[in-house]
Amino acid sequence: MNTFYKNLSMWLVIGLTMILLFNLFNKPQTNSTSLTYSEFISSVESKAITRVVLNGDVISGTTQDGKPFQTIYPLSDTELIPMLRQTGVNIAVKEAQKDSWFMTIFVSWFPMLLLIGVWVFFMRQMQGGGKGGALSFGKTRAKLMEQGTNKVTFDDVAGIDEAKEELEEIIDFLKDPQKFTVLGGRIPKGVLLAGTPGTGKTLLAKAIAGEADVPFFTISGSDFVEMFVGVGASRVRDLFTQGKKNAPCIIFIDEIDAVGRHRGAGLGGGHDEREQTLNQLLVEMDGFESNEGVIIVAATNRPDVLDPALLRPGRFDRQVVVPVPDVGGRKKILEIYANKTKMAPGIDLEVLARGTPGFSGADLENLINEAALMAARTGAKEISLELLEKAKDKIMMGAERKSMIITDKEKEVTAYHEAGHALVAWLLPGTDPVHKVTIIPRGRALGLTMQLPVDEKYTHSKTFLENTICILFGGRVAEKIIFNEITTGAGNDLERATGLARKMVCEWGMSDELGPLTYGKKEEQIFLGREIAQHRDFSDDTARLIDKAVKDIINKAVVTVTQLLKDNRDILDKMTELLLEKETIMLSDIEKMIFELRPGQFPEAEAAQAKKTAQVAPEAVADTVVTPDVAADAVAEPESDEEVPEESAPSASPKDPTISQG
Ligand code: ADP
Ligand code: ZN
Repeated sequence: MNTFYKNLSMWLVIGLTMILLFNLFNKPQTNSTSLTYSEFISSVESKAITRVVLNGDVISGTTQDGKPFQTIYPLSDTELIPMLRQTGVNIAVKEAQKDSWFMTIFVSWFPMLLLIGVWVFFMRQMQGGGKGGALSFGKTRAKLMEQGTNKVTFDDVAGIDEAKEELEEIIDFLKDPQKFTVLGGRIPKGVLLAGTPGTGKTLLAKAIAGEADVPFFTISGSDFVEMFVGVGASRVRDLFTQGKKNAPCIIFIDEIDAVGRHRGAGLGGGHDEREQTLNQLLVEMDGFESNEGVIIVAATNRPDVLDPALLRPGRFDRQVVVPVPDVGGRKKILEIYANKTKMAPGIDLEVLARGTPGFSGADLENLINEAALMAARTGAKEISLELLEKAKDKIMMGAERKSMIITDKEKEVTAYHEAGHALVAWLLPGTDPVHKVTIIPRGRALGLTMQLPVDEKYTHSKTFLENTICILFGGRVAEKIIFNEITTGAGNDLERATGLARKMVCEWGMSDELGPLTYGKKEEQIFLGREIAQHRDFSDDTARLIDKAVKDIINKAVVTVTQLLKDNRDILDKMTELLLEKETIMLSDIEKMIFELRPGQFPEAEAAQAKKTAQVAPEAVADTVVTPDVAADAVAEPESDEEVPEESAPSASPKDPTISQG
């Protein structure tokens, strides 16, 4: 209704303005000729005029030959009338137009009125608008999902069971508030869901409302923030009023960090509007009792930047972490979305789940959707495993760029580079197995080597990290050995290797010379939301030692890799040949080639391979962890051997899969 009136008044104003302008610029234009006053006088004198109409200072009339004319005459000319009478012209006098003075005043006052109008408009906005008025900016922007329309339930949310469990009690409460209040228990007023984007926070909040069958308000933190001071605060007020009216209900505030950041933080002085909004939020949360049946659920991916006052008891005192799903969770989420599409029979979602570490629920949904789109495009009746693989690769590494023109020489260099990564990964024990190697350009990478972790790792051992650095150098060293030349393709590999080595020294205390200390303190700028400065809390001497330690790690890796590749030059050549021929090779291809080339030299791997072939048809599995290289390639790991490093050390995000591109 409000919008209707708003639109109506807007169109009215536009319409009026148009009419006015039209009147201003379109003084009644008849097709009469306009004469100058002296022309008119001489026409009268020569008796060429038979009839005139006097209308204020306008004279119109007709000439003898019937033509209409018009002229303006000076009112001070008192001789006109006698002269007209003398010449026997028929004189008519018209009453001056009634509305003309009104029009005149209106026109002269119009700009003023307009200004006053605009001023009133803004004033009302600033005051948070008359309740129910047409232009109420202070009204909450929350969208309401009425009771009974919300069909989302906990069954639609998978893979985050702990979070679901913690929220059960909220549902019980909303279903039957009395039961809780009788016992005198205090239900949390607010629940803060913390987790990276796409992990299902919104979905979870909706599911709570759906399970309890209560109305669901959604609003985003940024909806509170307006240009005008005070609007946010009045919106908060309105939101709570609405909420109480609809109790029991859920109010979901997405991205609460937009209003809930630390007060007093930020560049360039105060943020009055935001702080006012936040204060209002705090006041409102204190002001209602939880047994009123309104529960605020807020989501953020930066719980660390929130104002501590928000997290105090009586406000968002319940915090639930919504993590990125693990393998099992990913499988369950995939199952939910797979059930909504037509999958080819016998697809093992477990494999897909294993190959998508770090994927959020939203990513997984996107993966299935992408595969479904591909299927539709190719006219397939159902979604096959290949399509799922393809969709995964596309999401992880960007679309294939088949049309990219690459010279044969470049292709050969890329093939050696990738083969270098893959071979090092295959030869070094305790690394994630190679899954797939390709020299088809994707995204910004010219080629990729993908590794597939056997299981999710949350910490990595020093050995594992050293091996990872070796794999990253595999590409560059192979280029150096074969062509005695290095290309820019390895740039990203170097960057990542150096970054890892530096972290090993400075963050994870893995250098013998420097000991188990951390060096450098990260300083967070809350307002900018990311690290902008790295504090140096060590001396220049230590800095030199750090540089040396980093260099040592890298040098050691280069020496190891050079030796490894030189010793296995035959395999490297053969793998490159295979790559150039097939463009994409899987672990099984690589192993077959190696076992043929060097029979009996890798008994353990051969045994494992034999065992696997006996169990599953070899190509049936297709899971990967891909680490694409911006510059050129990625290393993916296969699912062959189960060797995993024992001691784990530094925590690394599982989203850091093992891919070396180059
Ligand atoms: P967030 O609010 O954390 O950014 P959303 O709840 O908006 O994430 O998630 C986006 C979409 O991803 C959801 O609508 C849902 O389709 C899917 N999704 C995310 N997490 C899950 C999950 N755990 N189970 C099922 N679907 C999920
Ligand atoms: Zn590389």
